[in-house]
Amino acid sequence: MNAECIGLVCRDCGTKIAESEFSLTCPSCGAPMRVEFAAGALRKALQDGMPPYDDRSYLYQWRSILPLSDESLIDRVSLGETETPLLRSHRYGRKRGISDLYFKLEQGPTLSLKDRGTALCVLKALEQGSETVCLSSSGNNAASISAYGSRAGLRPVVFVQKHVSAAKISKSLVYGGNVIRIDGDMAAASRLCGEMVRKKGWYQCGGPNPYRVAGKRTFAYGIVQQLGRAPDTVLIPCGGGAGMVAAFDGFSEMLEAGLIDRMPRLVGVQLAACNPTATAFHAGKDVVTPVEKKPSLSDAIMNNNPYWGKYCLQAVRATGGTMLSVTDEEFIRAIRELGREEGIFTEPAGAVSAAALTRLLDAPGFEQPGLTVCNLTGHGLNAPQVATGDEEYPGLVEATSAAVDKYLQEQAVSGAGRLRSAL
Ligand SMILES: [Zn+2]
Repeated sequence: MNAECIGLVCRDCGTKIAESEFSLTCPSCGAPMRVEFAAGALRKALQDGMPPYDDRSYLYQWRSILPLSDESLIDRVSLGETETPLLRSHRYGRKRGISDLYFKLEQGPTLSLKDRGTALCVLKALEQGSETVCLSSSGNNAASISAYGSRAGLRPVVFVQKHVSAAKISKSLVYGGNVIRIDGDMAAASRLCGEMVRKKGWYQCGGPNPYRVAGKRTFAYGIVQQLGRAPDTVLIPCGGGAGMVAAFDGFSEMLEAGLIDRMPRLVGVQLAACNPTATAFHAGKDVVTPVEKKPSLSDAIMNNNPYWGKYCLQAVRATGGTMLSVTDEEFIRAIRELGREEGIFTEPAGAVSAAALTRLLDAPGFEQPGLTVCNLTGHGLNAPQVATGDEEYPGLVEATSAAVDKYLQEQAVSGAGRLRSAL
């Protein structure tokens, strides 16, 4: 039996509206909204246990806890976004003194975690009769909305800043996104996107959209279903912070429904080059104020004014978690070591969670993090140039077995897969 969705509730003032009165943010105070279910509905929906893996889509697997009024729409949007793998670490964790480490490989059909939220957003756009879906992003979210919008037969529009590399937007273009490169920065792109939503009634899939977070919260359910219990610690990369808030929502619901017996500690990870939420956390502040960005080899999760910052802080504090920051050197090393030691290629935005493990063990109270999950939020192919340097291009080897032996011996001495010169 599906949990009955009774509307949207404001995260700040508690104002409630029906789904049919959809508003991106609270009509009373402007704060973000949360999808609300009838009291006890989630417990009832899951009374027979967690739904099993569904090889069509996780929208089918988790449909009893998603706000779906018309399940026939799943087929129209689905790109085969099944529940993502949870892999036990073979070497990476042990080398760092964490015996019980898992990686959640959040790589949907467009190779990032964004698909989890986008799939539900686009389905709701269809439900509401919208013809255009939009957001401001030049990265994974833009690619995801372009793919799902095209799949559903809608017009995807993405707003990007003036200075954006061709490589960065190529995925969106291939997926049929209408890329609007405006004469301004990302903040200006966001403002224009908001204006088009207000004037044209386009469906905004980014920022505060409550269905994005409702879709993303299945990440937490997936982990508990795969482990058969709640993890003790979860490391989550934080840019805008929606992923952290969604994880908190999911675990909180499961605790309330009696599916887990305690909350995991949620640990947010940012880049040292842009860490406004970590800065606010350690300064004891309740709100996040923008910081100046420093140069970084990553252009993902470099969000200096995170929309969900305040709620991200609340989630981390409520679970006894912490906020960590990692350097470029640390995340590049993590990318290479995950590749060599685990066979996993992750992008910088995801690698920060694995890179932060060493710092985690030094954080007060985290000497024994217990069963730990790192959220690897996207495939390395989203930013393949970051982890390798030209100096790694293999030299020519003479076509004889003796030359191959000699080459491999030299590699073993110099360290297979030398790290790029930046290290
Ligand atoms: Zn409100």
